Amino acid sequence: MPVVDYERYCEMLDRARSGHFAYPAINVTSLTTANAVLKGLAESESDGIIQVSTGGAAFASGSAIKSMMLGAISIAEHVHRVAARYPINVALHTDHCQADKLKDFVLPLVEETERRRARGLPNLFNSHMFDGSALPLDKNLDVAVSLLERFRRNDLILEIEAGVVGGEEDGVRASGAAKLYTTPADTLEVARRMNAVHGARYLLAATFGNVHGVYKPGHVKLRPSILKDCQDAVVSAFGEAARFYLVFHGGSGSELRDIHEALDYGVVKMNIDTDMQYAFTRAIADHCFKNYDGVLRVDGDIGNKKSYDPRTYLTLAENAMADRVKASVAALRATGTTTARLVGTH
Ligand SMILES: [Zn+2]
Repeated sequence: MPVVDYERYCEMLDRARSGHFAYPAINVTSLTTANAVLKGLAESESDGIIQVSTGGAAFASGSAIKSMMLGAISIAEHVHRVAARYPINVALHTDHCQADKLKDFVLPLVEETERRRARGLPNLFNSHMFDGSALPLDKNLDVAVSLLERFRRNDLILEIEAGVVGGEEDGVRASGAAKLYTTPADTLEVARRMNAVHGARYLLAATFGNVHGVYKPGHVKLRPSILKDCQDAVVSAFGEAARFYLVFHGGSGSELRDIHEALDYGVVKMNIDTDMQYAFTRAIADHCFKNYDGVLRVDGDIGNKKSYDPRTYLTLAENAMADRVKASVAALRATGTTTARLVGTH
């Protein structure tokens, strides 16, 4: 299916929330990792979200260029070209963008979408995250509201964050004193400000002890019941229409029990990066260790071209990551939930 349009994306999110399942939102940094996600989703018969971080996008543009904007466009254009060959729906999203990076990442990408729309072409991305979690909440929401107005005009969905996700992602580390648990009062303020932009759609990353990265058991104390408290507060203050569409950051390494509880409270998107990185690299390490004298030219020998051809180990990595995508889809109760076949003719 072609990359979803706004209506189809909204429909995906609605269906997930009412069905208590979620889409994996998987960070990619290359054609191979993007292909792995599409393959894993297709084999799971699940829709999903491909996302690009600022660092991942800069990487994708090449180490000599390091342009977040160009790398994001390259990956998005690739996905637009190949998505139609897969019998599932996929949305394109950009991950954490702090306020100081908006002008080099999200804003030029929105401008690109505006140019495309003016020519009658589909949006480049379907949604973007603004991460104002390092700002006081009122400043965070000032920026978010002005973005949301522009997003509404362009059929874009905005993801914001209230509270702070712990750990480190893309070299950005949350401070030790960071607010790892969102409060119902914070989320009421989010709803009050954001819902004033009528007809716009947004996703909320509320934090309940999540951290980026994977840690040994016992290190992370997730409290999904915080999400329920936030939903109950917003529904009682503003009615059912205000119920949040929640995003679970730092999904890698989470306990199934915590994931399922979060789904029951309205999580529709779970970000998974670290577990995918490991699955990808694990397959390459396995190949190199098992074919040591093929990938290396040992003691004057010539190695084995078949072993060191990057396609050999990158195909193994692509397949391993696709399998990991399938496992995530299953954990998110999304296996077999795509509606693409019902409407698709591809
Ligand atoms: Zn995150």
